[in-house]
Amino acid sequence: MIIVMKRHAPEETIQRVIDEIEKAGMQPVPLIGTERTVIAIIGDERGLDEAHFRSLPHVSTVMPVLRPYKLASRETKHESTIIRVGNVEIGGQTIAMMAGPCSVENEDQIEESTRGVKALGANILRGGAFKPRTGPYAFQGLGREGIDLLSAAGKRHDMVTVSEIMDVRDVEFTASKIDILQIGARNMQNFDLLKEVGRLQNPILLKRGMSATIKEFLLAAEYILAQGNPNVILCERGIRTFEDETRNTLCIATVPIVKELSHLPIIVDPSHGTGKVQLIPPMAKAAIAAGADGIMVEVHPNPDVALSDADQALDLERFGALMNELGPITHAVNRTLPND
Ligand code: PEP
Ligand code: MN
Repeated sequence: MIIVMKRHAPEETIQRVIDEIEKAGMQPVPLIGTERTVIAIIGDERGLDEAHFRSLPHVSTVMPVLRPYKLASRETKHESTIIRVGNVEIGGQTIAMMAGPCSVENEDQIEESTRGVKALGANILRGGAFKPRTGPYAFQGLGREGIDLLSAAGKRHDMVTVSEIMDVRDVEFTASKIDILQIGARNMQNFDLLKEVGRLQNPILLKRGMSATIKEFLLAAEYILAQGNPNVILCERGIRTFEDETRNTLCIATVPIVKELSHLPIIVDPSHGTGKVQLIPPMAKAAIAAGADGIMVEVHPNPDVALSDADQALDLERFGALMNELGPITHAVNRTLPND
């Protein structure tokens, strides 16, 4: 951190800043100019209270030099993280293809979805059981029964599973049955939930909050990492803007930005990102071209009767067509699809 004092700051105010830095266990290096004094701080500044230093008398500016997240940062860990779960890698050479219905609805629906997406090349099965619905009268998901159905379908077809949790009381149960736990956009800053999943070793799929900056997104990941769980997968799923042609505004730039700032893998969800079936293939291709490590798409055997997010679910035929379209793009960026 660099602290710039105001012009002609009295000696005692400079000394006060120096004392406070030393009290916090850091080493101050004052650079005394003719008009202004600048104090550089040696050591990891992230434990310092920036606002406190800004409030001290005759302080002009406080400039952090490190990013506020540490464990999530590429400054701390240079090489990209690869997360291994079952026979799948996320963040490696192969694009992770997560597919399945928005909600697990019944045994036949999840069986048909699983068989279909697996045959067409998906390697991770998604399905929501605890559903964060905007209104309380909408289908809320099957809860623990849905987790059991998803887990059983994953086992029958040898697929890695991912499902959302919303409540700390469901974490232990879900973690014992589902491979990857998802923290949804609405819970990205549910700090108690982040800390709870941070105590697990299951990979966590952390979705970007719909009004979160990339810095806040990475700080949410930091909460999980700081508890000891290194297996965080980030997911860009669009943010809320003034645009109303799409359900959300899917920010593909997040992918290369996060790749620069962090070593964590990042995937893109063009279903929630656009809300429209016809926009899923072009945005999935754009995501892979931009360097995403995976795609999450909603696939339903019969979207017309889906109990949630019917407008953004591909049927199996469209999912097969998407997999075919993704091939050339994936190979152009020197990566592979799970069914290559
Ligand atoms: C979901 O994946 O089903 C979901 C609710 O996503 P999001 O949190 O991105 O809205
Ligand atoms: Mn959904």
